[in-house]
Amino acid sequence: MTPTQPLFPEIDSIEAITKEAVLFVRDNCPNGIEVGFSGGKDSICTAKIMELSGIKYSLVYAFTGIEPPEIVRFIRNHYPQCQIRVPKRTFWRSLTTNVPPSDRLRWCCTLLKKDNHDSVLGIRSEEGSKRANRPRINHWKGRTTYHPILYWKEWQVWDFIAENNLPYPKLYDEGFDRLGCIVCPYHSEKTGKLHALYRKRWPFMFKRFEREIAKLYQKRVSQAKTMAYDSPEAFIQAWYLDDSSRWYAK
Ligand code: SF4
Repeated sequence: MTPTQPLFPEIDSIEAITKEAVLFVRDNCPNGIEVGFSGGKDSICTAKIMELSGIKYSLVYAFTGIEPPEIVRFIRNHYPQCQIRVPKRTFWRSLTTNVPPSDRLRWCCTLLKKDNHDSVLGIRSEEGSKRANRPRINHWKGRTTYHPILYWKEWQVWDFIAENNLPYPKLYDEGFDRLGCIVCPYHSEKTGKLHALYRKRWPFMFKRFEREIAKLYQKRVSQAKTMAYDSPEAFIQAWYLDDSSRWYAK
């Protein structure tokens, strides 16, 4: 059996999951809604589901300034209707006053990606334990997010893209199975392949990150702060290896 043959065609086939996802958004967002669009494969499917549903929707991309430039180009070329939302303070500017982001303190996600609108998101439970526990309709801090493709498997995502002849970023063909911010505490050296691929493909982004961290480190030392690591280089190595590396000494 090939991986693209559904086990239960009546519920697993591309036709069946498409119908189900379209009904889900029609039932839950009949009056129109914003779609958080990342330019990745899951977002591409979600945008198509919205189009098929006939519901009024708008695509919004949260620009971080630390994403692959290819993604922004892809969105501009293939989704010109997508609004690219640029934050008031960029990641680099915020890094001059914050501690470096970490797995426990993801201030950049909050600052650059979160908004207060209800929205449809293309998250999938396969992508990690946090997402696996998310409900399909999530109410959080006065905001509701809807996840029409939450239970789709990766093969279904790719089959849906192929069946609908949708464009997708060619970075996937180069081995990037997930696309997002280039310097991110989520993909450290510990997580392996992705970090190595990112460093090889976009070394300039890592160089800038290391430069900014060194400046921030020196600034804090001059303010008589007690740092957890002896040098910015030692911190950076720890950050690349361990999502929870500390900045200040306890
Ligand atoms: S770098 Fe990582 S934690 Fe920060 S905004 Fe990007 S995805 Fe979120």
